[in-house]
Amino acid sequence: MNERTSPQYRLYSQKEKEILTKTVKLSEEVGELCNDILAILKLQRRAKLEKFDKRNIYEEFADVIITAMQLAITAGVDVERAVGDKIKKIEERSSKERQPKQK
Ligand SMILES: [Mg+2]
Repeated sequence: MNERTSPQYRLYSQKEKEILTKTVKLSEEVGELCNDILAILKLQRRAKLEKFDKRNIYEEFADVIITAMQLAITAGVDVERAVGDKIKKIEERSSKERQPKQK
């Protein structure tokens, strides 16, 4: 790579840095939840399974939700509206799928 082909990533504002930080944090929390799910399914290596506490998965679900909420707030997303709109969209789609196909 040279100067012309290497990507230029620049964060210009404090808000952009916060969004990036919270995005990375969300990924970390999703990874922790995935670890616990693998452990519950006994798909982790033995050393990890020995340390695993099943109760921890509740905290990991909460971490993912809280971190996603924090990211949305930082990014200026109206979470209540976004979730409401999405649920409506899903309901409309599943309602259409349940209707008999017209010939
Ligand atoms: Mg966590």
